[in-house]
Amino acid sequence: MRASGRVACDASEMVDEHGKVAGHGTVVVVEDDHHIADLIDLYLRNAGFRVLQAETGERGLELVAAEHPSLVVLDLGLPGNLDGIEVCREMRRAGDVPIIIVTARDDELDRVLGLELGADDYLTKPFSPRELVARVRAVLRRYEQGAKSSDQPIEVGQVVVDTQRREVRANGVEVALTAREFDLLAHFVLNTGIVYSRRQLLDSVWGDGWIGDERTVDVHVRQLRRKLGDALPLATVWGVGYRCD
Ligand code: CA
Repeated sequence: MRASGRVACDASEMVDEHGKVAGHGTVVVVEDDHHIADLIDLYLRNAGFRVLQAETGERGLELVAAEHPSLVVLDLGLPGNLDGIEVCREMRRAGDVPIIIVTARDDELDRVLGLELGADDYLTKPFSPRELVARVRAVLRRYEQGAKSSDQPIEVGQVVVDTQRREVRANGVEVALTAREFDLLAHFVLNTGIVYSRRQLLDSVWGDGWIGDERTVDVHVRQLRRKLGDALPLATVWGVGYRCD
């Protein structure tokens, strides 16, 4: 995938001479609705992925076995003998390919979460294709971070985060963070491009069931901005939450 004339940005992304960020790897999209499958296909291709479509669970399993994709986007409502839940279980039994599950409704999502299928992320329809691409990148980035044998730091903006040593540098200068500030920052840099609500950040960083005021998040974000300044590309998305780019 590393064509000449391109500059390596990091392990998960490439930037070509036009500054367009390209992903790499193959994504299998298991979805029987052609319109949705083609839309996902288009956006993932534009992001630099090779895309293979499967209309049924059986075909999806075949493609995963034959092509060893980087990731699977799996719709739960599938025709044929295998529904998405069974397909997910089968893929988990067969290996550790990252899986993003797409569900039709919020109530279905609640039920699916209870099954603990081991998927890496979940999206409820309708979703924006851009959001899906951001999720795909985030899941792959997490996998690559986890797979790296060396403790390679993550670079976002002018901030370098070393999650192994729990050290942070902004513009090359080491910055002291509290444990919670560090955990929040690590969550942002591992999930760039995704908008998180304050509630989601509390669940992910402070822990599920943490009872507290959502303004706690704002306080910590303010501290991160004070300590890291413009080095950290962290945007406030009004009415929603925060997004790190
Ligand atoms: Ca479907």
